[in-house]
Amino acid sequence: MLIVMKKDANEEKIQSIVTAIEKRGYTARPIPGGNRVSIGILNNKNSVDAAHFLGLNGVKEVIPVTKPYKLVSREFKQENTHVKIGDAVFGDGTMPVIAGPCAVESETQVLSIAKSVKEAGAKLFRGGAFKPRTSPYSFQGLRKKGLEHLAKVKQETGLPIVTEVMDVQNFDQVEEVADLVQIGTRNMQNFSLLRRAGKSKKPILLKRGMSAMLQEWLMAAEYIMEKGNNNIILCERGVRTFVRHSRNTLDLSVVPAVKKESHLPIIVDPSHAAGVRDQVISLSYAAAALGSDGMMIEVHNNPDEAMSDGAQSLYPDQFTKVIKTMNAIHAIILKD
Ligand code: PEP
Ligand code: MN
Repeated sequence: MLIVMKKDANEEKIQSIVTAIEKRGYTARPIPGGNRVSIGILNNKNSVDAAHFLGLNGVKEVIPVTKPYKLVSREFKQENTHVKIGDAVFGDGTMPVIAGPCAVESETQVLSIAKSVKEAGAKLFRGGAFKPRTSPYSFQGLRKKGLEHLAKVKQETGLPIVTEVMDVQNFDQVEEVADLVQIGTRNMQNFSLLRRAGKSKKPILLKRGMSAMLQEWLMAAEYIMEKGNNNIILCERGVRTFVRHSRNTLDLSVVPAVKKESHLPIIVDPSHAAGVRDQVISLSYAAAALGSDGMMIEVHNNPDEAMSDGAQSLYPDQFTKVIKTMNAIHAIILKD
């Protein structure tokens, strides 16, 4: 249930409603909006009787929430959430681009790629220090050393860093360096990791599980928000289907569906969906045309020698062209 406060309800009135909710044994979660504050009621085992709250001073209306997810739903918060990182804003109608290699391989490698993607217009730099690999014999990432290289990238270029956290034990060290902490497709329903992410002060990039339904994905985001972290960006990265012509199938239709259901920003990662660079380019344009809130694209200075995902990584020159065209497509969408 959502209690919508009157526009002129001051802090004192809001607090008195919070107290009234808590007295009944529920949890109250104030949600500031552009014009007015709403207060979500959480942890109710049964339906809540609206009559308890309707007549209270400062209350405009009481809206039942029909969705299983609450805090992440549009029913709870109508305005888009804006997630600000560096000079990028996700969710305000712009389309910031995150770019970089799949894995951090050396300081020289990340610095070289970071400089070229920054020049091309990328707003954040990505690179995995902890790599979730299908095979235990594949390169697992440089781990702590990789984080140090990422810190160097930030220091030299000023680009905010996006990097993946794979488990609760490594969360502290990852969030120290990351400006946006990534939770990958394989961990979308790692509930202890989600709860830990909910306690982080850093924004979270929550990738869609490779076979997750929209509802399951939003429920995963709810785990994070329920612990107090409201800065979440969702990322569509392709789902498993029966086809073999691409690594995964980019579910473009999920972008408008998420925007309808949730106030959280949603970005698209065409690289992990496609698996091959030609498709990455076309899918990037399609995602820009959808009004995606951002993009994440893998770029490598020497893809043939890359330690992971070389086949889907764009060459820096290619990326420069792609970002230009994506921005031009997005500008047309913005005008509408
Ligand atoms: C990645 O972005 O580095 C990654 C491993 O992606 P995903 O979790 O989508 O496979
Ligand atoms: Mn990758």
